[in-house]
Amino acid sequence: MNDSETNLVTAYIGLGSNLANPSEQIKTARTAIAQLAGVQELVFSSLYHSPPMGPQDQPDYVNAVMCVATDLPPMDLLRGLQRIENDQGRVRKDQRWGARTLDLDVLIYGDQIIDLPDLIVPHTGLAERAFVLYPLHEIAPQLLVPGKGRIADLLVKCPMNGLKRLD
Ligand code: ADP
Ligand code: MG
Repeated sequence: MNDSETNLVTAYIGLGSNLANPSEQIKTARTAIAQLAGVQELVFSSLYHSPPMGPQDQPDYVNAVMCVATDLPPMDLLRGLQRIENDQGRVRKDQRWGARTLDLDVLIYGDQIIDLPDLIVPHTGLAERAFVLYPLHEIAPQLLVPGKGRIADLLVKCPMNGLKRLD
């Protein structure tokens, strides 16, 4: 046994993309996350198709949720994810406010409730978003979402809103 084993935390990461071959973006991000130092993939959900939130004049999203074991502190995990977003994040450099090709969110970090200026965990909106709840429930049906309750109870209160599981 060593320190990295004793400090492992189970975390859930939300992945989303609606540009530049979204399914490929999600697969590339999965590999990049698994290659982060201090992060190990445990489970990866199916891919899901979801209509965009807010403005409808944009393509549908592809979403997934990844469960990892990590010894990174939460802010280091966020920074690692942001680096991957930046690596994949833009279709063209001259596109000033272009939609991002990749959104990576820390959904859950162990049993912690975090309220920092740059990091709110569990992720804001987790309990209301079908594209987060359904893939999360697929890979962790017994999950207790810190401060929010059982995943199964959250799920029954959240309509699928056009979400489709791809297989
Ligand atoms: P959204 O994910 O809501 O579409 P962004 O990815 O652009 O929007 O939001 C990025 C900001 O959200 C970052 O500045 C980051 O610090 C902040 N943030 C707060 N909590 C989290 C979290 N749990 N996971 C990822 N980013 C978070
Ligand atoms: Mg984000």
